[in-house]
Amino acid sequence: MENCKVIAITNQKGGVGKTTTAVNLGVGLASSGKRVLLVDADPQGSLTVSLGIKNPDELDVSLSSLMQSVIDDEPLAEGAIIRHQEGVDLLPSNIELSGMETGLFNVMSREYVLKNAIDGMRKSYDYILIDCMPSLGMMTVNALVAADSVIIPSQPNFLSTKGLNLLLRSISKIKRQINPRLKIDGILLTMVDNRTNFAKEIAALLRDTYGSKIKVFGTEIPHSVRAKEISAEGKSIFAHDPGGKVAEGYRNLTKEVLKLEKQREKNRAGLSR
Ligand code: ADP
Ligand code: MG
Repeated sequence: MENCKVIAITNQKGGVGKTTTAVNLGVGLASSGKRVLLVDADPQGSLTVSLGIKNPDELDVSLSSLMQSVIDDEPLAEGAIIRHQEGVDLLPSNIELSGMETGLFNVMSREYVLKNAIDGMRKSYDYILIDCMPSLGMMTVNALVAADSVIIPSQPNFLSTKGLNLLLRSISKIKRQINPRLKIDGILLTMVDNRTNFAKEIAALLRDTYGSKIKVFGTEIPHSVRAKEISAEGKSIFAHDPGGKVAEGYRNLTKEVLKLEKQREKNRAGLSR
């Protein structure tokens, strides 16, 4: 049975830790023995750069080549996937993806192009993490259609109800109209200043506002300059500063994500009995 889980890491706000989370949750899952593909769905190519590709714009084949194959109804372009030394695979992106996104408006089944590009890869991976761009545009819609669940990174002080409401509205619209199995795994508090006790306060606030609709991960990712350094190094925090608090945060997040899966498997087994 195919058992791959596709997670979109999304928030229309930039600079909240989406790419950092994709890299480090990805490497965390790979260290736990999972087969992981990281998909860069941002034309900025930050995930691609963070994994050590210095000039993404020089890549011949990237995510946009695969999406173009889908649009042209041709076999998928080959040779896009890059193996990273820390055990994750990368489907890179570059500026070409932005032209791709603009062109999507005239395409048949435009919301399904990314899904059709990556669904065939599910059999080769346990987790596919999609690093979304900071917008709720067509690329993000494609990511939410391709995904089984969503993780929403957010800095506690930037967690605006308005922004979150917009994102939740997009998610539930896609769930209703296109992808009924889409779930929200949770909000991940990032760059948390450990002098405050944000996570608890925010979890309580969210519970008041949204009831049990959204969970906040028990793990919070602390703020640390060490985390800032990794994208220039092309490595994860586990390689750069394994004993530090950010590595510990992402290690705990990995455990939480793995636990979610165990819980779901149990529920499935219970249902099928
Ligand atoms: P996004 O993908 O949402 O735009 P990034 O992951 O690129 O966000 O993070 C934005 C900036 O914050 C980057 O410069 C990154 O290095 C930095 N950053 C990410 N996580 C942390 C952290 N835990 N502590 C300090 N800086 C961080
Ligand atoms: Mg990013």
